[in-house]
Amino acid sequence: MKPFDLAFIGLGAAAMSLVTRLADSRYSGRVALIEPVPDPGDDRTWCGWPMNDHPFSHRATRRWSQWAVSNARDEVTAGSREMPYEMLRSSDVRSVAMAAIAGRDDWVLLAGRALADARKTEDGWRLTLDDQSEVEALWVLDARPPKLNLSRPWVWQSFVGAEISGPRMGDPDQVRLMDFVDDAQPVASFFYELPIDPRRRLIEFTRFTPTPADPAEMREQVDGLIRRRGWQNARVIRTEQSHLPMAPIPGYDRDQWVRIGTAGGSMRPATGYAFHAIQHWADGAAAALLEGRSPPAPTRPGWLDWLDGVFLESLWAGPATASDQFVQLFRRVPPDALSRFLMARGRPLDTLKVLNSLPVAPMLAAAWRHTRRRS
Ligand SMILES: Cc1cc2nc3c(=O)[nH]c(=O)nc-3n(C[C@H](O)[C@H](O)[C@H](O)COP(=O)(O)OP(=O)(O)OC[C@H]3O[C@@H](n4cnc5c(N)ncnc54)[C@H](O)[C@@H]3O)c2cc1C
Repeated sequence: MKPFDLAFIGLGAAAMSLVTRLADSRYSGRVALIEPVPDPGDDRTWCGWPMNDHPFSHRATRRWSQWAVSNARDEVTAGSREMPYEMLRSSDVRSVAMAAIAGRDDWVLLAGRALADARKTEDGWRLTLDDQSEVEALWVLDARPPKLNLSRPWVWQSFVGAEISGPRMGDPDQVRLMDFVDDAQPVASFFYELPIDPRRRLIEFTRFTPTPADPAEMREQVDGLIRRRGWQNARVIRTEQSHLPMAPIPGYDRDQWVRIGTAGGSMRPATGYAFHAIQHWADGAAAALLEGRSPPAPTRPGWLDWLDGVFLESLWAGPATASDQFVQLFRRVPPDALSRFLMARGRPLDTLKVLNSLPVAPMLAAAWRHTRRRS
């Protein structure tokens, strides 16, 4: 049988984003999709500042035009009507993607199966799945999570969240992006709260930490905040947790094999945001494939990763300094410029405004330490 044009390893955010665009644009190639988890359910929410509409925009659960960042000493509120903060449920994104895939009878979804082995052929790749079936494809787009050992300045973003429902769940219009806890843990810890509607709220506890943090301890932090707010009788609708690598992903050079999504470096090291960067990559990848070109890997300028390294290095000075730095960033940089910068889509002037907001001497010291460690 003729090989597939594309084989996706993993039907997560990156694969769903690209195949939805390809199906919507009547891409003529044949596509195979390999995914071990048949239905992950509503296992995550994807938030961030969208820079453009994307194929899932109409399914956004909510958009907010106000947000707050605080620590024990200070609080800053900011916002933008033009560039609101957006939340999507993974289950909604999946239903759009699955409808697009179902419209293509020449595409094959191999759910409940994982990649076990891959061999290069003359034309492309022969993939062996864990049920011993085989798939041949010209191009492989691989979203399997990378295995990484991180060292300073890079850290893990460990988080545990609970979506709760009850009466009077606080201000429904303001996202609390980071409420820092100046505890003794390196490098920084904070609560994150999304008021989904007046009766529903996602509450997460996050640590930027040298080694993945204990989920049970983080769940206690979430429960503690729920009790302090008087919401202990609220119903827990769903939970989510993970450890995300806040680090650049090493390059990968295999003929006709592209790493995509987090595995391809779509996640910004200093923020952990990836979903909207994936949308940007998917726009470019769909355009390339529709013009008959090769699928591109995600890219980000090397200097931005260096800058993220310097910023993360500066956070190692201690939790209080780290939280002050974030508060100042949100206070001093105009919201739209900061949102573009955080989404890795900053204009040169946005980057200058961010650099101008940071304390000069500690950043120069961090730049020196980071550069010396890399050389
Ligand atoms: C709980 C959670 C919340 C997040 N929240 C945000 C957020 O708010 N904003 C944001 O920008 N980013 C967020 N992220 C980060 C990032 O956007 C997501 O991790 C996103 O899902 C990355 O997309 P991806 O395609 O790279 O990987 P995934 O979506 O994780 O997809 C990878 C797929 O590969 C499959 N796979 C694994 N092994 C194999 C194998 N051997 N063979 C075949 N398939 C395999 C997996 O089952 C999975 O479906 C979050 C991540 C998590 C985990």
